[in-house]
Amino acid sequence: MNIKIAIDGPSGSGKSTLAKNIAKALGLVYVDTGALYRTVGLFAKRCGVPLEEASKVVKFLPKADLALKYTEAGQRVLLNGEDVSDLIRTPEMSMYASAVSAVPAVRAFLLEIQKKMTTEGGVVMDGRDIGTVIMPDADVKLFMEASAKARARRRYEELCERGDTSTEEEVLKDIIKRDSNDQNRTVAPAIPADDAIFIDNSDYTPEETLKVALKIIKDKLCRTL
Ligand code: C5P
Repeated sequence: MNIKIAIDGPSGSGKSTLAKNIAKALGLVYVDTGALYRTVGLFAKRCGVPLEEASKVVKFLPKADLALKYTEAGQRVLLNGEDVSDLIRTPEMSMYASAVSAVPAVRAFLLEIQKKMTTEGGVVMDGRDIGTVIMPDADVKLFMEASAKARARRRYEELCERGDTSTEEEVLKDIIKRDSNDQNRTVAPAIPADDAIFIDNSDYTPEETLKVALKIIKDKLCRTL
């Protein structure tokens, strides 16, 4: 199916789980744009850029070559040829991603690679500015919501599975800080597109969320056909 679906929302709101499930159900490619910001965050750290001075990464960007690769196991992200997909999934990289994502030159740097993915067939893309900046022409725009507590619990469980030792309180604190950074930055703030449809999935299982989303997609596509 050659359709474009944009999914935005705050950290831990279930975007990536839903996007993966939609991709599977409708045979679309799932693009996780947060992985790109996380990779620039990792790159900044490796260049010795302190978290509080994230904009200093800009002068190193010409030395960063980012690429997305799609395998049976899903999306992989390469930094100068190295697969860093697992290294970027730490709480530290979440905070680095949030810090570098507020830097206009970083957003401009990642624009082309994201735009390119929108032209290569059916896609479901998740992030913070997909419906507003990356795919303003998406066929369906979803905006995910869930209480901060529900989001922190999910992120905490995800991190536990990866062997991370952060406490649930620490995860909640990071989520609140990241939401505030993402919503209040001047470039591409994490806000819903005017034509986005909201899904609050605080009390839904992933299967229930998928069911709700597929109904929205079907209704929307029927109306535009
Ligand atoms: O989605 P994920 O939690 O992996 O994203 C990490 C960070 O990257 C977010 O907190 C946000 O600051 C940034 N991001 C963004 N725009 C996107 C995707 C992610 O600013 N489209």
